[in-house]
Amino acid sequence: MNLQDFPRVRLGHWPTPLEPMKGLAGRLNAARLFIKRDDCTGLATGGSKTRKLEFLVGEAMRQGADTLLTHGAVQSNHVRQTAAAAAFMGLACEAILEERVQDAPAAYHESGNVLLDQLFGIQLHRVPGGTAMDAALEALAQKLRQQGRKPYVIPGGGSNALGSLGYVDCVLELQRQCEAMGLRKPHLVHATGSAGTQAGLVAGIHALGLDWPVTGIGVRAPREAQETRVHDLAVRVLNLLGVTRPLPRERVVADDRFIGAGYGIPTDSMIEAVTLLARTEGILADPVYTGKGLAGLLEMVRTGRFHSDEDVIFVHTGGSAGLFGYVSAFAKASA
Ligand SMILES: *Cc1c(COP(=O)(O)O)cnc(C)c1O
Repeated sequence: MNLQDFPRVRLGHWPTPLEPMKGLAGRLNAARLFIKRDDCTGLATGGSKTRKLEFLVGEAMRQGADTLLTHGAVQSNHVRQTAAAAAFMGLACEAILEERVQDAPAAYHESGNVLLDQLFGIQLHRVPGGTAMDAALEALAQKLRQQGRKPYVIPGGGSNALGSLGYVDCVLELQRQCEAMGLRKPHLVHATGSAGTQAGLVAGIHALGLDWPVTGIGVRAPREAQETRVHDLAVRVLNLLGVTRPLPRERVVADDRFIGAGYGIPTDSMIEAVTLLARTEGILADPVYTGKGLAGLLEMVRTGRFHSDEDVIFVHTGGSAGLFGYVSAFAKASA
């Protein structure tokens, strides 16, 4: 396995820290809780998409693209990071935003990630919920090609095999950090949406012959559908890496019990988790992904799913900019 074979641009600050969560562990009477700070990648308030974009934008540059195209929900962290990457690389950028959350308050449409997208100077196209996003993106790409532009299309969440290599690289980083800090066989917990993060982690762990468990906490799709999607993508990542050993389906776990009413819709357990992390660690999580992921982690700790000597790492995938699109959800909770 050699990540050097793939074109790549440097967009982030590496390695991101791996740190103990002493305050949270103390509050929960839990032993060994750690956090991988991928919220601190440095690009435009940080987050997981920085890792994926290093490979995706690397490929875009190799192809001589002049424009990055992608799509996401209105409060997409992926669109915000892509917009910043384009600004940094001197590329144009356009994104299609899907109204995936119904009856959202004004802040959801104007603040948080949307405010930042606009600051980075990208062109936004808003479409109703349920739009066939990949087809809409391809149509936009076609239109730009007819105008003589050279768009590079990045799928939602940056989640294809190439983008997922970013999380193979994260496993390499974690392997060095765990060795230096004396963590053995850590159990990784993180939020899973468009599947690239978990596919990259699981593929990287498999490629390196490690036996680290990974628990994805779903934010959108039901368990079976999400696990199939992650496994399919992880297999494609392993193909890209030239790893032929089959990946057992059981290596992919995506718990769907913390989604609540749907993608981007606040839950009580998310509000509790975001608040608890803020007050015990001084770390910001987000309402759509890491808050629900943390709610899953809290439940696992509270129901004794980890042994007292097991090292648990929450992979913080970023997203705090999204908090500002959810002012009313938190205001209600603290009133
Ligand atoms: C995109 C995102 C995720 C989910 O990662 P996927 O690779 O899409 O599964 C998790 N957390 C945050 C903050 C994200 O922006």
